Amino acid sequence: MTDNITGKVVVITGASSGMGEATARDLAARGARVALGARRADRLETIVQDIRAAGGEAIAVATDVTKLEDVQALVAAARDTFGRVDVIFNNAGLMPLSPLDSLRIDEWNQMIDVNMKGTLYGIAAVLPIFQEQKSGHVINVSSVYGHKTVATGAVYCATKHALRSLSEGLRQEVKAYNVRVTVISPGAVDTELTQHITEPGLGDQLREFVPQIAVPATTMADMVAFAISQPANVDVNEILFRPTVQP
Ligand code: NDP
Repeated sequence: MTDNITGKVVVITGASSGMGEATARDLAARGARVALGARRADRLETIVQDIRAAGGEAIAVATDVTKLEDVQALVAAARDTFGRVDVIFNNAGLMPLSPLDSLRIDEWNQMIDVNMKGTLYGIAAVLPIFQEQKSGHVINVSSVYGHKTVATGAVYCATKHALRSLSEGLRQEVKAYNVRVTVISPGAVDTELTQHITEPGLGDQLREFVPQIAVPATTMADMVAFAISQPANVDVNEILFRPTVQP
């Protein structure tokens, strides 16, 4: 009996903190071989050392997901090191919430570049490999905010709605060569995500409120493991989870 995780090669973006880090550590502990990408290379290195010290297999590649060539290099390093790529977890994301009339246009662009284009670049990097292998799994990260829209979240919600649409379109196309597509939409999870909110008042408010209800980042790791561990002919298309008390 296989658990469908042991030995799989999993590329993870945004692996330097939060849900990416938790998922990398968890999958490695379950026997997956993991390739970690994010900009903070020092953090990635620490995580890789921890995984190796525990007997797992991991590599790290400094990656800015807004650069296609960085994402391609991350995926290529995974394939060169481990011989194949089974899963990409397109997890890197930013949520600098603000009202539109604050005109934080740089932050709008960042969200579009990281959340949306970063995910597209992950897909672009693995698709030729998955086509050749005739197997693979793309796991994208949307949000509860990919299911509803809130004031101060117009751009963030737009990127996360787009990721659900992208995932479904991708699924319909790549099932032809046996590739699974999963989109996971978390509610409040205890991570560094709110650290980047620059809007006066809003950041402090959320940094105080979110930890009061949030679930741990390992919750995402469990969801990812569930999706990956299904038999190859079962594609978990969508997972939506949130803290029980979250509206
Ligand atoms: P964190 O801030 O802890 O993690 C975000 C990760 O994204 C970091 O590893 C960061 O690494 C990486 N990242 C940001 N910009 C880039 C970039 N340009 N290139 C590569 N990596 C980048 O937050 P979370 O763990 O919460 O976020 C993970 C995902 O979950 C995001 O997509 C987020 O939108 C989503 N999400 C989170 C929720 C929550 O409540 N926490 C709820 C719903 C969805 P580095 O800075 O080192 O590059």
